[in-house]
Amino acid sequence: MKLLAATTNRGKIVEIAEILSGLGVTVVTPEEIDLHIDVKEDGATFAENALIKARAWSEAAGMPALADDSGLCVDALDGRPGVMSARFSGPDATDEKNIELLLRSLQSKTQRTARFVCAVALAWQTGEVILAEGRYEGIIIDEPRGRGGFGYDPVFLDPELNKTLAQMSPGEKNARSHRRKALDALKTRLQESGLLHD
Ligand code: IMP
Repeated sequence: MKLLAATTNRGKIVEIAEILSGLGVTVVTPEEIDLHIDVKEDGATFAENALIKARAWSEAAGMPALADDSGLCVDALDGRPGVMSARFSGPDATDEKNIELLLRSLQSKTQRTARFVCAVALAWQTGEVILAEGRYEGIIIDEPRGRGGFGYDPVFLDPELNKTLAQMSPGEKNARSHRRKALDALKTRLQESGLLHD
């Protein structure tokens, strides 16, 4: 089965190809099939956004497409920034500005629990859909630690390892990340679905 990884992020493409490699699935990229579309991500949830993207790409490409959407949900902020994670600090948001706003919003809060959530959707042009979600539980600390990763990684502490995601090697993070858990769950559902060879 040929499947389009609906992302231009090289790291995500490699991870998707790696996880699905045992299934006889050939992963192609938008670049390889010279397809470029702009999809408005206006869903209220990660799953909705992943589905919007997977459906749009699958229709445009005429083949099954896999898309993801992810973000940070902070308990003391009633789940925010959530689907707004990338643009939390406004239209000119940067990782630094987002972290600054997050830490300011949490200044007077003692509850520091949070989770990264990733939804993945696999959509067929025929209308079938498989959805899966992965979570990574952690704590938001007061000051950034570490230089690796991206986004909110420097302030998201894994309480088991006592390290932020920015202090982990890429392999260490990828082995336990919300994205990895979502893709693993999707793989299981795909295997069980009977849709693999369609
Ligand atoms: P996307 O779904 O990959 O576009 O991610 C949306 C936003 O959520 C990113 O811009 C980050 O702000 C945040 N985010 C998602 N996953 C991670 C992660 O693994 N580490 C840090 N930030 C993340």
